[in-house]
Amino acid sequence: MEKIKMKTPLVEMDGDEMTRILWRMIKEELIYPYIDLKSEYYDLGLEHRNETNDQVTIDSANANKKYGVAVKCATITPNAARMEEYHLKEMWKSPNGTIRAILDGTVFRAPITVKGIEPYVRCWKKPITIARHAYGDVYKNTEMVIDRPGKAELVFTAEDGSETRSTIFEFQRPGVLQGMHNLDGSIESFARSCFNYALDTKQDLWFATKDTISKKYDHTFKDIFQRIFEEEYRARFEAAHITYFYTLIDDAVARVMKSEGGFIWACKNYDGDVMSDMISSAFGSLAMMTSVLVSPDGNYEYEAAHGTVQRHYYKYRKGEETSTNSVATIFAWTGALRKRGELDDIPELVAYADRMEQAVIHTIEGGKMTKDLALISSLEHVTVLNSEDFIKAVRATYEELSGAVG
Ligand code: NAP
Ligand code: MG
Repeated sequence: MEKIKMKTPLVEMDGDEMTRILWRMIKEELIYPYIDLKSEYYDLGLEHRNETNDQVTIDSANANKKYGVAVKCATITPNAARMEEYHLKEMWKSPNGTIRAILDGTVFRAPITVKGIEPYVRCWKKPITIARHAYGDVYKNTEMVIDRPGKAELVFTAEDGSETRSTIFEFQRPGVLQGMHNLDGSIESFARSCFNYALDTKQDLWFATKDTISKKYDHTFKDIFQRIFEEEYRARFEAAHITYFYTLIDDAVARVMKSEGGFIWACKNYDGDVMSDMISSAFGSLAMMTSVLVSPDGNYEYEAAHGTVQRHYYKYRKGEETSTNSVATIFAWTGALRKRGELDDIPELVAYADRMEQAVIHTIEGGKMTKDLALISSLEHVTVLNSEDFIKAVRATYEELSGAVG
């Protein structure tokens, strides 16, 4: 069979540890045999980030901006232990944070659902996608511990020296204090990314905040979303037969629990942090969560939601067998290749991505899976495969599906 040709390069961001091992296996077994891969390769492995003083991360994000689509392997975010382990010059920042800052994007996380791995919430039939605003609020806060009586005020000093003040609290006893901010521009980008992604995936969009209590802060989020929806998106949503729905966060949580899924839930930064962990555990496994960073001007970076699976990597290095789940990383590749196919008008590439995802799902539904899934599967006959054999089993299913089509 002739390999599928690509037009524009895919930006490839390699990573660390066990996911770096899976990365190579996926390329050899599931990509190279079928696609004449055109990629611009950036090695975001920690050693190379350290050698380049992290310039490679910045270069890769700029390439993502230039070409539009990237696929990223999980990477180590250095901490004190990693400083020693890798003899780092500096405690380099999280690559995901750096890339997100350059692309100004929103992260969408969605579970991959398969028969046999049932959500803990019985009524959920379709995936729920979480969109998390990734700027500001409590993540860029200033905090104080108050240890004596006094008055806390919010003071804004304008460039011309004029002040706007407002009393927060008159402390008589010890307590705590916090200040935080957000920017209209960032909220607007967040809104556009969400509306675009809803149109892209033809799913309804929900957004919720606590605007009844936070009458200025959260209300600004609500107002910006509503304005952008009316001005730029209402007509397109109607044409696509999807809806935008705003409600209070408490109401949203109650509705999500009673829904059947199949929508995007846009969350402020903290809500998204918490709710994405709830959604992924409720759907069964972190190893089955996909993640895509979408910028307001239409750039995409696909990855798995999990980390580098360090514990498995140490086993692998000792020569022990591992059974690491590669599904989310495979879907990062298929997601990126499908998007490339759509943008460059290469229907064979889109068809490849669809069929490869089907092959993954059929393989698992047929009872062949890695250990993490075997532990939670409700199927009666399950075969546990090691990391490499699972990927080979997916290839065999892909060949079968291709044979069936002719
Ligand atoms: P992790 O790599 O997500 O793994 C945590 C645990 O979850 C694993 O030990 C494993 O459990 C299970 N697990 C996760 N993915 C799995 C998979 N694909 N197959 C099977 N089991 C899986 O998180 P971590 O160990 O906390 O972090 C390791 C490194 O990843 C850190 O250096 C962190 O900085 C980095 N990280 C990167 C990203 C990213 O690049 N997007 C995200 C998060 C973390 P068992 O050990 O019980 O089998
Ligand atoms: Mg979290």
